[in-house]
Amino acid sequence: MCIKNYCLNIVAILSVCLAANGQTAMDDAKEMANLKQHILYLASDKLEGRETGKKGEGLAQKYIVGQFKKIGLVPMGTDNYVQEFPFTEGVDYGKGTQLSVNGKAYERGVDWYPLPYTPNGVSKISGELINAGYGITTPNHGWDDYADIKRDKKGKIFLMEVSSPDGMGPHSKFKEYSDIRTKLDTAIALGAAAVIFINSDTSVENLMADFKNKITPSNIPVIFATAALAKVLKGKVTNCELTIDIKRLSHTGHNIIGYIDNGAKNTVVFGAHYDHLGFGGEGSGSLYRGKPDIHHGADDNASGTAALIELARYYKTSTSKNNNYLFCAFSGEEKGLLGSNYFVKNPTLPLANMNYMVNMDMVGRLKPDEKNLSINGVGSSPVWHSLVDTIKRDGMKVKTTESGIGPSDYTSFYLKDIPVIFFFTGTHNDYHKPSDTEDKINYTGELSVMKIIIAMVDSLNTKGKLTFTKTKEEDSKETPRFKVTMGVIPDYAFDGEGMRIDGVSDGKPAFKAGLKAGDVLTQMDDFKVVDMTSYMKALGMHKKGDTVTLKILRGKEIKDIKLTF
Ligand SMILES: [Zn+2]
Repeated sequence: MCIKNYCLNIVAILSVCLAANGQTAMDDAKEMANLKQHILYLASDKLEGRETGKKGEGLAQKYIVGQFKKIGLVPMGTDNYVQEFPFTEGVDYGKGTQLSVNGKAYERGVDWYPLPYTPNGVSKISGELINAGYGITTPNHGWDDYADIKRDKKGKIFLMEVSSPDGMGPHSKFKEYSDIRTKLDTAIALGAAAVIFINSDTSVENLMADFKNKITPSNIPVIFATAALAKVLKGKVTNCELTIDIKRLSHTGHNIIGYIDNGAKNTVVFGAHYDHLGFGGEGSGSLYRGKPDIHHGADDNASGTAALIELARYYKTSTSKNNNYLFCAFSGEEKGLLGSNYFVKNPTLPLANMNYMVNMDMVGRLKPDEKNLSINGVGSSPVWHSLVDTIKRDGMKVKTTESGIGPSDYTSFYLKDIPVIFFFTGTHNDYHKPSDTEDKINYTGELSVMKIIIAMVDSLNTKGKLTFTKTKEEDSKETPRFKVTMGVIPDYAFDGEGMRIDGVSDGKPAFKAGLKAGDVLTQMDDFKVVDMTSYMKALGMHKKGDTVTLKILRGKEIKDIKLTF
């Protein structure tokens, strides 16, 4: 599961109380042993956290290819089972990269750093500095940072603030003018040769040198100056010289694709990503703060990969032959759904014949006492709701969400109008930390999830091609951008009153305040928190530096805890 577009699409709650009726001819003990063998290897130290494009990914790739071959899947990559995809990450700086102000050289990485809006290659700028305030020109709100600058602006270096005259909150009246891209477009239109961002607003985060995000570069260098240099730049500047020489580094990721050809018209796609965060670190999505360490990713997503392999084995001999089956082990998921995105743009089977996509991401940590299973994307075909209602197994509580867009590979398929369904046993304290290890996997739970998937897929065998429906987007674009974070992973499957914490991010406000996984937040100052929506509303009321009193239910105890954002 990738953290970047972690979204909050909680809709219906379905409680299903059930009786198991083992309709499959599976040898449970054997099956669980197989799952364990896969996860033990994939989540072992040897695979170094399976970061896309790295050695560990290569070892995982060999293992999965070996399994697909043994099962007898037809290779459906571009090179046997493998489909390579390119991606860029990180940059190399040429020796010439430097900045001097009033004749003094400032250090890259300490005083300043290039932002990903900077184009590749060498840019050499030498010129006058113009203080462009917030860099905002508004037709309607009577604000124009450029109005008083009478000098010729062409070819000059523009200095501007990251924030806006009334901050960066969701209620700022400059909201539509204060994003970086808009400011850059305005500056470029006025002839800027380079832009230097500074940040005097303590409630706003500094801009990041994140060359992982897919930001389209502009045609001028764009840098961020940290506080000490910002002070110099706001003073009298007689001379400013900037040379940037950057090269974005390209890498290769590997999807692994195998096929069961039943001679049918349509194909059911099973997908699970096998990559993870490697050794973690800044910008990787890791929630662990400490020296680099192997992020084992046993649940995320060796668990889904193991289920994928075992489903391939099952469908090889299954009597449900009205569909073909495609098994995709995607890579690059943690870096932003890169592998699945590439696959749907370069499919090795026609997309038009893909019936629906079943995604498994983090299916190994079913909590034995609660048995909450999330089934997401059920708005993407009318068939899902009734099907989810009728599938009854092992006392699991099933909670569904509608949206076809979320933080895992199914999103790529949904955006190509293919019905999707996504299985997920919930986040936990070890999510995106080195401690997501094999010994914490609930194999009985994972097998139950697999059986639910099999029951659903088998029941659709005679139903032909599913109808695709667009889902309401209650997430992504609509999610307000918060100025503050507590640093917790909410338990999205929790259906009691309040917001239950499933994980606490090291070093963040909640961690410092002593919050723990399992705590249920019911109140923030005077504001009652009854669910995720009210939790988000409560967050939206605060800014960095605020101290709040939280009411927490810990076990049977009610606690008041002070937290500073
Ligand atoms: Zn993940």
